[in-house]
Amino acid sequence: MVSDAQLTQTIQSLKDPEIGRNFGELEMLKGVRRSGEVVSVQIELPTPAYPGRERISGAISAAVKQSDPGVGQVDVEFSAVVRGAMSGGSFGLRAKNVIAVGSGKGGVGKSTVATTLAYGLKTLGCQVGLMDADVYGPSVPHMIGSTERPSAVKVMTKSGEEIERIQPVSSDGLKVISMGYFLKPDQAVIWRGPLLHRAITQFLKDTDWGELDYLIIDLPPGTGDISLTLSQTLGLAGAVVVCTPQQVALLDAVKAISMFNQVKIPVLGIVENMTGEIFGRGGAKSKAEELHIPFLGELPIDAGIRIRGDAGQISSLFSEENPSRKPLLHICEQVAMQIAKQLLVAPKMPTLEIL
Ligand code: ADP
Repeated sequence: MVSDAQLTQTIQSLKDPEIGRNFGELEMLKGVRRSGEVVSVQIELPTPAYPGRERISGAISAAVKQSDPGVGQVDVEFSAVVRGAMSGGSFGLRAKNVIAVGSGKGGVGKSTVATTLAYGLKTLGCQVGLMDADVYGPSVPHMIGSTERPSAVKVMTKSGEEIERIQPVSSDGLKVISMGYFLKPDQAVIWRGPLLHRAITQFLKDTDWGELDYLIIDLPPGTGDISLTLSQTLGLAGAVVVCTPQQVALLDAVKAISMFNQVKIPVLGIVENMTGEIFGRGGAKSKAEELHIPFLGELPIDAGIRIRGDAGQISSLFSEENPSRKPLLHICEQVAMQIAKQLLVAPKMPTLEIL
């Protein structure tokens, strides 16, 4: 009979099918127990949005049975703890991963993707916040069907000081804050750079977000102002660029990517939205390949998305029978895995003791 230590070693040396490094390096193996012919293996995933559970089970089961033919059954049990850099800057923001969602121009479905990314990650079991920073057209309150103004709450700091914070709106367990809650309907505001900077930092700093696995930020289209503020004040996990498949729209997406490069925000990848007969299919995918940027999936054009967005019921896109559920969850998984890969595959930096 092969010893437990040998079984552990066999599993540690297997490669994770999504990330491409072995379970030992990724510190994903949390336990191996044998009881007669049955071996139980505990794997801790780097995010609940991990798409390859069956492949992991299959690979572990085959390797264990091969190393010890006396094993009759292998049970792989999964848990998940979101990995993240927890880089909330000096704001005391406790978000493991901050994700910006941007686009080269308006109307491509950026807010739809940002909102469904947030609901999707929530559906998959993560703690999620959604910050609508699209000051020029804050559409998130409308899409989630919650236009009430958030309340102010008093909270105690660690040092015993009482301070006032903004209580985010809760929508199906998702914490949401939007510029739309603070503007009167039809109110136009001229947002100059310093004002934008102040508004965004206040949202990050003064909102009672609690602990989050992912904070999704819906950026205004095109402009780099807010992106610059974010890159200077936080360590973002990266940006998701949304575009539609036709050539003219792709030109704007390339500009958005170039803007993120300039402000040093890593681009996690491109999402193609409104795929279908009207705008075509595959344009964003080939552009992503050309630019060596990950392609994060496509969301087909579907009147149901527009109707639910207008009715404030966008979360219902995740109901079991909805045709958009599958492509949306696929996008969520791809985004989460890009972040995990960035964290776990990037070579470890040597640390200096004095820092
Ligand atoms: P943006 O944030 O880029 O301005 P929105 O997310 O507000 O874009 O979307 C613009 C409009 O397109 C909204 O009415 C929205 O419901 C609709 N829409 C977005 N994605 C789709 C889709 N895949 N199919 C159908 N309608 C969509």
